[in-house]
Amino acid sequence: MAYRSIFDASALRTEFENAGINPQFIPLIWKKVLQNPNCKWEEILSLPAAAYSLLNSKFVPLSSTLHSVAHSTDAVTSKLLVKLKSGAFVEAVIMRYDSRKGQYDGKPRPGGPRSTLCVSSQVGCKMGCKFCATGSMGFKSNLSTGEIVEQLVHASRISNIRNIVFMGMGEPLNNYSALVEAIRMMTTFPFQLSPKKITVSTVGIVHAINKLHHDLPNLNLAVSLHAPVQDIRCQIMPAARAFPLEKLMDALHLYQKNSQQKIFIEYIMLDGVNDDELQAQQLGKLLETLEVVVNLIPFNPIGSTSQFRTSSEAKVKYFQKVLREKYNIRTTVRKEMGQDINGACGQLVVSEQDKLLATSTAPLTDIEDLRF
Ligand code: SF4
Repeated sequence: MAYRSIFDASALRTEFENAGINPQFIPLIWKKVLQNPNCKWEEILSLPAAAYSLLNSKFVPLSSTLHSVAHSTDAVTSKLLVKLKSGAFVEAVIMRYDSRKGQYDGKPRPGGPRSTLCVSSQVGCKMGCKFCATGSMGFKSNLSTGEIVEQLVHASRISNIRNIVFMGMGEPLNNYSALVEAIRMMTTFPFQLSPKKITVSTVGIVHAINKLHHDLPNLNLAVSLHAPVQDIRCQIMPAARAFPLEKLMDALHLYQKNSQQKIFIEYIMLDGVNDDELQAQQLGKLLETLEVVVNLIPFNPIGSTSQFRTSSEAKVKYFQKVLREKYNIRTTVRKEMGQDINGACGQLVVSEQDKLLATSTAPLTDIEDLRF
């Protein structure tokens, strides 16, 4: 039989309960695996005797393996290539920052820099956004809860992860139950991340947004809007046909009313498609009654075959100016393309080159070598 990840929480809890083992031992097991992912079950002392035979027959500490890590030349970003037990690959990206640098006599903050981990939720994605590398792969499979959490376990061996963004491969709200369970695990012992440090990015799966605040209060919601009107959305994001903009905006208003939290809006800037003053005005009007932060993302072409071009810097700046000055909307521009991927969901794809590099012994030195 196929062994399951110890981080497949509901399967583990069910097995423990069926075997009459107290589930209160589960967090201890997770803690030990976090400390040593290669541990043998017998090395975890003080479990009930029945737990060892159950664990040995049905569970492994990790179901995925970290195949390779590629570091950007400035050491800010590391891309993890993770091989699932199915043989498929997903990516997770660590972004290091030290936002309080300078507040302690110019020295780095105590405890060292903190990192954000960009996590994948699916192998591929069925939403098919035309500008997205992952969308070009098509949908292969959902990740299990364990496979999502294991990305954090792998990354925690490399860096001190304090923030999680679900902006890797896949549409997280299309893998809703695994997402919810994974985030619940990440916010409890032994991970204990604050829900306020976790961001879920979606293209706008309306029915799931309607449930999200109830199931996961206090996390951050980011919406990949990318256009202020339905016809442009449908042109660049085919899945938007199923989620009319009007219904999406209703869902966002309700989400904000219930959560009292600002919403992050991701907007990829595509030359001549969605970056004119008209669209800036439409976007401003659409968002002026919400409390949002808009993140304008200069498009990063997916190879030479991309049908889109990057908006000029001047156009991006003017777009930002309209949103800020006319509509008083906090608007940022993602500056470092490529390395700073904390912008929109699904800008990751596992290429054949990635897999080749993953199985080679050559050290990877630059994340840009692996991108798109
Ligand atoms: S942008 Fe996000 S939702 Fe769209 S295809 Fe890419 S991964 Fe999927």
